[in-house]
Amino acid sequence: MNMQSTVLINFAYIVASILFIFGLKMLGRAETARRGNMVSAAGMLIAVVVTLFDRQVLEFQWIVVGLVAGGLIGIVAAKAVKMTSMPEMVALFNGFGGLASLLVGWAEFGKIAHSGWLEYFTELTGTPDGNPAFTSATIALAVIIGGVTFTGSLYAFMKLAAWVSGRAVVFPGQKLINAAIVAGCVLAIVLFVLDERASESYPSFFCFLALALVLGFTGVMPIGGGDMPVVISLLNSLSGLAACAAGFVISNNVLIVAGCLVGTSGVILTMIMCKAMNRTLFNVLFSGFGASAQAGGAGAVQGELKPISAGDAFYLFEAARSVVFVPGYGMAVAQAQHAVKELADHLERNGADVRFAIHPVAGRMPGHMNVLLAEADVPYEQLVEMDAINPQMPSVDIAMVIGANDVVNPAAVRDPSSPIYGMPIINAHEARTVICLKRGKGTGFSGLENQLFLLPNSRMLYGDAKQSIQALVSEFKNS
Ligand code: NAP
Repeated sequence: MNMQSTVLINFAYIVASILFIFGLKMLGRAETARRGNMVSAAGMLIAVVVTLFDRQVLEFQWIVVGLVAGGLIGIVAAKAVKMTSMPEMVALFNGFGGLASLLVGWAEFGKIAHSGWLEYFTELTGTPDGNPAFTSATIALAVIIGGVTFTGSLYAFMKLAAWVSGRAVVFPGQKLINAAIVAGCVLAIVLFVLDERASESYPSFFCFLALALVLGFTGVMPIGGGDMPVVISLLNSLSGLAACAAGFVISNNVLIVAGCLVGTSGVILTMIMCKAMNRTLFNVLFSGFGASAQAGGAGAVQGELKPISAGDAFYLFEAARSVVFVPGYGMAVAQAQHAVKELADHLERNGADVRFAIHPVAGRMPGHMNVLLAEADVPYEQLVEMDAINPQMPSVDIAMVIGANDVVNPAAVRDPSSPIYGMPIINAHEARTVICLKRGKGTGFSGLENQLFLLPNSRMLYGDAKQSIQALVSEFKNS
């Protein structure tokens, strides 16, 4: 390839990288997010097309077949997958990203083992010079990180889709076993990198490949279903790092840049989620949080649950001037978002000020509640973040808690012995009246009892959230 085309290709890669960065930035705000997605996709299209020319692919028909098949699967998935199944879909996408990097690493190793280093470097860079140890290390990293991401994401998918129990699976010696697998991986990498006779390195290659695949499963095993969003975000970040390693393997600048962007943004999101739960990443990964019902701490819950019927709740709502909905995981389970929007419309017509208080980790994925409420056409201006709504809570007539539990548990601010003490919550307990929608006495993801439900100003509207809200809507319609 001549100098001019190399400059052109690198220029196109820089354009693609700039589009990725601007696209990511635009994803940060609801108003610009759709356009941000398009901008990033345009960057990816440029990167893919230019890479195909750069690599001088001889048989384009297979590329076209792959493009059409992948595009069709993408369109069908985007149309068919429900909003509530987005976490599962993201988990699968991450897993396939990891698998792609693993396969790139494997394919490159296959080439080297077949042709030898000199021929490989000559084909890749035009000169026989190259650093076999560096290339071997990047191949190993792409395969290991990709392998862990692949099986870890598949297991996370199965937990989220309830194909396996969502509970954290913990057993004695688990950490030791995981540590032994990591040590085995490190040993296999060292042997692989030090042995420059690539064709002889198959045993160490397959050893770390197998251990990485096992580590994905065993690493995710002790993490509860509710913590899967953090795990998925971390795995997403790992899939970026795997892609970055694959970029170094095949000397592709845009893959290195895109991999770094995914890797770092994944780490930032992981940290944001851990902060919102007041937990460390170490605690999320290794504590077995949610493995069993947790003790309530010294300030154990006392009081009486006071049920209320939809008919009686209606009279409270009819008189209310300000209502704050606090949605949680139960709203997603009940698919109650459209009914909530209908109720909000009735309340507004009745003269009430309606807002939705959004906790950063309500539900089972970042932005879970925003996505559901957007699907039901709730105006974005009605969504208020935790820090903005909390100071206003004492002047709110009704806080309606829709299938939320941990994110409104006052133990987080009142009970230093509680496992969730310090976790920021929405102060629903400070509203004049709290109406809590849940099916029964089920605890939240943390397994903790919730004092909120027993407070003098709390009433329990039992039943599936969607049905309870529909009953309230019927009361408004009949009034
Ligand atoms: P939660 O603590 O899991 O509580 C959900 C509540 O919904 C339960 O009390 C359940 O009670 C009720 N429920 C379930 N199905 C229902 C239905 N059909 N109708 C009415 N109620 C229903 O949920 P959350 O308050 O949203 O808290 C999220 C939890 O996930 C937190 O512990 C958070 O740290 C964790 N987490 C979230 C993320 C994230 O990215 N969003 C990440 C990591 C961890 P019943 O069974 O009695 O109905």
